Amino acid sequence: MLRSVWLNELTWEDVAEYLESRDLAILPIGSTEQHGPAAPLGVDTYAAIAVAGDAARQAGVVVAPPLWFGDSPHHLGFPGTISLRSGTLAAVVKDVVHFLARNGFRRFIFLNGHKGTNLAPLTVAGRDLLEYEPPDIQIALADPLFLCTNASEIKETGEHHACELETSHVWHKYPHLIKPDKLPCEAVDLERLFPSAIRPDLFGRPGKMTAEVLWSSRERKCFAPAGSFSDASRSSPEKSRKYHENMVANLVDFIAWFSWRERPDAPATGWGMKRLECDVLVIGLKTVPASPS
Ligand SMILES: [Zn+2]
Repeated sequence: MLRSVWLNELTWEDVAEYLESRDLAILPIGSTEQHGPAAPLGVDTYAAIAVAGDAARQAGVVVAPPLWFGDSPHHLGFPGTISLRSGTLAAVVKDVVHFLARNGFRRFIFLNGHKGTNLAPLTVAGRDLLEYEPPDIQIALADPLFLCTNASEIKETGEHHACELETSHVWHKYPHLIKPDKLPCEAVDLERLFPSAIRPDLFGRPGKMTAEVLWSSRERKCFAPAGSFSDASRSSPEKSRKYHENMVANLVDFIAWFSWRERPDAPATGWGMKRLECDVLVIGLKTVPASPS
C-alpha cells in the first residue's frame, strides 16, 4: 500500500514497487488564470488536483505533480494570470510522459481541470507521443465537460467561466479560497455578443452555433471587465459534493477498464510499430467545445 498517491510524496523505491504491479499515472493539468473577484487564480488546477487525488486513492494509482500553468492567453489582461503558449504546454506534457515512460509507466490519463481549454494542446501532445515516442504507451484525456454526467441536475445557471459549479467545487474542497461576498450575480450576455457563435452554457445543450468566434485578451477584458462570465451567486459547497463525487466515480470506473486495456495493435510477442487512428481516447462523449473556460 502506497503512503501517498502523489508521486512527489513518494521515494523512487516506492515508485519502483508500484511499477511492479501497475503502470498508470494521472497527470493533473490546470491553469493559473483569473476567475473573477470571488475565486482564486488556481481554480482549474485545484479542480484537477481534487478529482485526481480522490480518484487515485480509490483506484490505487499514482498522480504526477500537477501542472499549474495552462493555455490562458485570453485572460492575460488580468493581473496574476500566467499562460503557457500552446506549443510549450504540449512540449511540457510530452516531456513528462517521455520521462515517466522511460522508467516503466505505460498508461497516462491527462486530467484537464480547465474545462475545454487546454484540450487542443493536450490532444496534439497525445497524438505526437503515440506516433513518435515509446511504442507501447496508452493515453486518455479527461475533462469535467465530459467526465461530469450530472451537471444539469445540480446547477441552476449557465456554466462558462468562474461560474456556479467550478466556484462551488473549490469552495467545497478549499473553503478558505473563496470570497462569498464577491460572488458575481450577473452573467455576461454571450448570446447577444456572439449570436450563433458561442455555447453560452458549456454543460448545456450546444444551442445554435454556426462558427466559433475567438477573442483576444483585450477584447475579453472589454466585454467582461470583472473577469467572470457567469452568475455564480448560487454557488455552494453542498452543490459541489454531487458534482465532485460524480466525476470521481466516473474516473474510477474508467481507470478500472483503462488499467488493463490491451492495445489492439499489440502483437502476441511484443509491441509493433503499427498505429491506429483511435489511440487518443476521449472519455464518454461527444463534442468538445472549443470555447475558452
Ligand atoms: Zn476555470
